[in-house]
Amino acid sequence: MSEPSIFTRILNGEIPSEIIAQTDTLFAIRDIAPKAPVHLLVIPKTEQYRDVTELAAGDPGLLVEMIALAKELAAAHADGDFRLIFNTGAGSGQTVFHVHAHVLAGGLDEKSMN
Ligand code: 5GP
Repeated sequence: MSEPSIFTRILNGEIPSEIIAQTDTLFAIRDIAPKAPVHLLVIPKTEQYRDVTELAAGDPGLLVEMIALAKELAAAHADGDFRLIFNTGAGSGQTVFHVHAHVLAGGLDEKSMN
């Protein structure tokens, strides 16, 4: 069994980070290094899926739930518009191999995809 991911350790209270929303299957936190005025992470409570392609193949309904929670959070924390990013693979910048969605909102630069 490999070590729990950093997100599992946050969920278990082993690493401090406020859980700003949760459902039976998901939780959300603020990114520790925000890239936008609002930068949240929506994360499945299970860490069995490494990235969004595994999640889409294994539990597409959970992926749909992630999008719905992202929408709710963007409405609660910004004006409702948001950018959803799934880094997929180390070459894309993925550093935590426990699938998560970056929800960027609140004054985005529409010319930039970063
Ligand atoms: P990735 O690069 O895998 O797509 O995204 C991982 C994200 O997790 C990064 O944006 C990083 O800033 C964030 N992150 C890493 N460690 C922590 C932490 O301990 N607490 C919080 N809140 N975010 C973290």
